[in-house]
Amino acid sequence: MHKHNILCIGLIIGFIIGIMLFLLFFIYPFNGSNARYSIATKTIIIDADYTMEFGLDYYKHSALHELGHYYWNEVLNKSEKGHYKKLFETVEDSSLVTSYAGTNVEECFAEYFWFVLETNDFPSESELITETRILVNKYII
Ligand SMILES: [Zn+2]
Repeated sequence: MHKHNILCIGLIIGFIIGIMLFLLFFIYPFNGSNARYSIATKTIIIDADYTMEFGLDYYKHSALHELGHYYWNEVLNKSEKGHYKKLFETVEDSSLVTSYAGTNVEECFAEYFWFVLETNDFPSESELITETRILVNKYII
């Protein structure tokens, strides 16, 4: 009887942990945003409803932005990231390609990654655009 209770408690705890892991990897990824890069699973997830609502340009922006996170986490080395962070810290928020790029250095890189791959036309060259282009060309092209 006593052993049976312990088994029951074990199953309940296991079930709760299972649900928490499910929420962490499959539900949490959206967490109020339309797309996300999961470092744990190295997966890009894009919400189809947002794509239907906002169109293909929005989807392309999201996909390239998330690919930028993959690139930051899996491709760039420590010194490249350190150099990029120093550049990010010296730039005024108002001169960034999008306001979201001002969130932190990783969002900044993801936004510039999108920007550099989206257009070859750079109306105003900045150090961040140049540096992002160098990093993209170094490993992709
Ligand atoms: Zn992002």
